Amino acid sequence: MNSTAVAPRDTGVLVVGACQAGIQLACSLREYGYSAPITVVGAERHAPYQRPPLSKTLLHAETSPDAIALRSEAFYADQGIRLVLGERIIRVDRGDGGAGVAYAHSGRSFAFDRLALTVGARPRRLPVPGADLAGVHYLRDADDALALRAALAEAVDVLVIGGGFIGLEVAATARELGCEVTVTLADNRLLERAVGVPTSEFFLDAHIRRGVRVHLGAPPVRLLDDGHGRVRGAELPDGSVLTADLVVVGIGAVPRTELAEQLGLTVDNGIVVNEYGLTSDGTTVAAGDCVACPPPVDLPDGPVRIRFESVNTAVEQAKTAAALLADRPVPYGAVPWFWSDQYDLKLQVAGLSTGHDRYVVRGEPDTEKFAVLYYRGGHLVAGDFVNRPADFLAVRSALAAGRTIPPEAATDTTVPLKKLIADDPRQAVA
Ligand SMILES: Cc1cc2nc3c(=O)[nH]c(=O)nc-3n(C[C@H](O)[C@H](O)[C@H](O)COP(=O)(O)OP(=O)(O)OC[C@H]3O[C@@H](n4cnc5c(N)ncnc54)[C@H](O)[C@@H]3O)c2cc1C
Repeated sequence: MNSTAVAPRDTGVLVVGACQAGIQLACSLREYGYSAPITVVGAERHAPYQRPPLSKTLLHAETSPDAIALRSEAFYADQGIRLVLGERIIRVDRGDGGAGVAYAHSGRSFAFDRLALTVGARPRRLPVPGADLAGVHYLRDADDALALRAALAEAVDVLVIGGGFIGLEVAATARELGCEVTVTLADNRLLERAVGVPTSEFFLDAHIRRGVRVHLGAPPVRLLDDGHGRVRGAELPDGSVLTADLVVVGIGAVPRTELAEQLGLTVDNGIVVNEYGLTSDGTTVAAGDCVACPPPVDLPDGPVRIRFESVNTAVEQAKTAAALLADRPVPYGAVPWFWSDQYDLKLQVAGLSTGHDRYVVRGEPDTEKFAVLYYRGGHLVAGDFVNRPADFLAVRSALAAGRTIPPEAATDTTVPLKKLIADDPRQAVA
């Protein structure tokens, strides 16, 4: 089919990808007064749901994915949002001005005036021999979580490969379920890409205290077969073997860029968008884990574009893209934040600590209740918070308002951080 066979111009917005970013984009379009049709097509069979519980509560309990649905069926009907599930879009033909037709694997087609890509990411596969053995799990969607939950119920020895959020949350859950747990990772510290050194060191100690064995700088070179096509462990670079009857791989996610590439959009570790969520064709928008966008906060000497996988980022980027489609453009500039729950530890991170040149620790990490505040050139730029939700909110507010918290005063835990928020003298000069 060629691109001249496009739809009449009353077909509205087609959102490809029915999860956090896609549903937010559709909802925000309505909030911004967009009145033409909105269709959201998603490849998964489940109603759009929250992903964070997949590595936390859903692994513990006999909860169904319906319990973590983002919105009710009635809500979509009420908002005039047409939700089509179980359809993977495999090709898009586009004509002038952004209108076109998208085709699903089943043969169904969806005409649109404007296209939005919220296709997320897929787990990065482990590139070693044995990675396709039975008993090796990845965790991205609800079906993965249900399969992992069933496997955990039978498992004795769990090996987690990767020391990022998903790996560590699974490790914590497996430990709480009574399994022996080992974590092995290529990096030399846990959560290396997301938090600063003191927070990494705290999580290493916290997992060890709870009985998890951790091997830093030790990426498996192969997974071992028990002789019946099932995993029995992993070999490390030094030749040592870790035994396991269940392996969970959590080594990051890769943005889904196939459709963008097929459309000729610029892709560079994600679908490249500008601060309005607009892709390189000037008509298609994109949001969420699939996009690489200009950093929403000032990052001198930092990367030109970042991909930040969090609920908050997916939501804020979706609002930005919706605003553009509704002809009410506002650039994306929200302070990024996210959280992770491991055992009874709630980690919250606000801002981007990239390139910080100073940090202060507030409270005692040994008490499992502390914060780390990061500064660059004298500016407050980020904070990590363990079981300190009020401090997290104070720093998030300070960052959003371009204000600061004097580092010397921040270490006094008797004074609430929110009382210390002050004008940033350097911001005023700049
Ligand atoms: C296990 C897990 C735990 C997490 N925990 C946290 C947390 O504690 N805190 C936090 O802030 N963030 C967390 N995150 C990250 C957060 O959930 C993601 O950043 C967020 O879900 C991204 O939303 P998205 O809509 O961009 O992508 P996704 O949620 O990946 O949704 C994309 C959707 O598009 C669909 N799709 C893809 N291609 C097509 C196609 N061609 N046709 C139709 N549909 C398609 C996919 O099937 C998927 O349903 C977690 C993520 C995971 C996986």
